[in-house]
Amino acid sequence: MQQTIDIDVAVVGGSSAGLAAALTLGRCGRKAVIFDTGRPRNKPAAHAQNLFTRDGTPPLELLRIGREQLVPYPSVSIVETAVTSAIAENGLFILHTDTGAAYRAQRVILATGVKDDLPDIPGLAALWGSKLVHCPYCHGWEIKDLPVAVFANGPMAYEFTAVLTNWHPDIILCTNGPAGLTAEQMQQLARNGITVTETPVEKVEETAGGMQISFADGTAVRRSAAYIKSGLIFNNTLAEQLGCELTEKGAVKINHVQETTVPGVFAAGDISSEGAHQVSIAIAGGHMAAGMCNNGLAKAAFEQK
Ligand SMILES: Cc1cc2nc3c(=O)[nH]c(=O)nc-3n(C[C@H](O)[C@H](O)[C@H](O)COP(=O)(O)OP(=O)(O)OC[C@H]3O[C@@H](n4cnc5c(N)ncnc54)[C@H](O)[C@@H]3O)c2cc1C
Repeated sequence: MQQTIDIDVAVVGGSSAGLAAALTLGRCGRKAVIFDTGRPRNKPAAHAQNLFTRDGTPPLELLRIGREQLVPYPSVSIVETAVTSAIAENGLFILHTDTGAAYRAQRVILATGVKDDLPDIPGLAALWGSKLVHCPYCHGWEIKDLPVAVFANGPMAYEFTAVLTNWHPDIILCTNGPAGLTAEQMQQLARNGITVTETPVEKVEETAGGMQISFADGTAVRRSAAYIKSGLIFNNTLAEQLGCELTEKGAVKINHVQETTVPGVFAAGDISSEGAHQVSIAIAGGHMAAGMCNNGLAKAAFEQK
């Protein structure tokens, strides 16, 4: 059996939130290990937008820079493997990886992100991150004024479409089945020139100028791009193992300094919020979580003397 490795902080997830945490921990001289399986959520997108000083940088380039900037800090290392289990034990945290290694950490930062759950419509997944997007703050400017479709239904579809009118004068809302909208919402959408199509979507095909959306009744429309309100799967297995409380949708509950309901366990990035999913917010959460880990460890050592 391999020996358990003692570290100050285990950071699970080495994308925006995890690497930001790593930088702070490195600058505190903390012995930290960042575990990462290399699947950042925005990998399918060509550029990361709406990011102060780095607007438009390719997502993997951002992470390359993030790793490069850790080089001066020798107490931080990156291990490219999955953490498969995490348990709390006598105020410490034992993590196992899929290579069989075991780590004992004084603090844990969960930065494991979320997965997007796209509906099973043929052709949709192939356009994800390019012509099919989820967030106007990330992609709206690049497709501003172009005719778009919105794949969404229910009250959220109404709110989402209303915001999208800021970027797009020509919107079709595809509810892919009976619209879960009130008569008043339907009227308000109509007043804004938005067509609601309830007919199930059969397939989506890429065209030179965008995409063709084909419906079950044999009709089809062409759009330059489309937005979708995808489902989210929170990568919260480790949080559950550690005993962290989750929100109804599965995000890890945190307080104003990113600490979960389990003292010593922090969460940052998409995993720690049901909706505020941006690279900049993930970065901020990572820095905050790491600072709080260091504060706690420094104070504990100080008071032991
Ligand atoms: C298509 C698309 C485009 C986007 N474009 C933008 C944009 O332009 N601007 C913007 O601000 N935001 C954008 N976003 C949102 C952005 O991707 C997320 O907010 C951001 O990636 C969150 O960072 P994170 O560190 O929390 O999680 P992630 O980036 O998802 O990273 C989580 C990391 O944890 C790793 N991991 C998970 N579980 C384990 C485990 N058990 N052990 C080890 N490693 C693990 C994963 O492999 C991954 O590397 C986009 C999202 C999508 C889907």
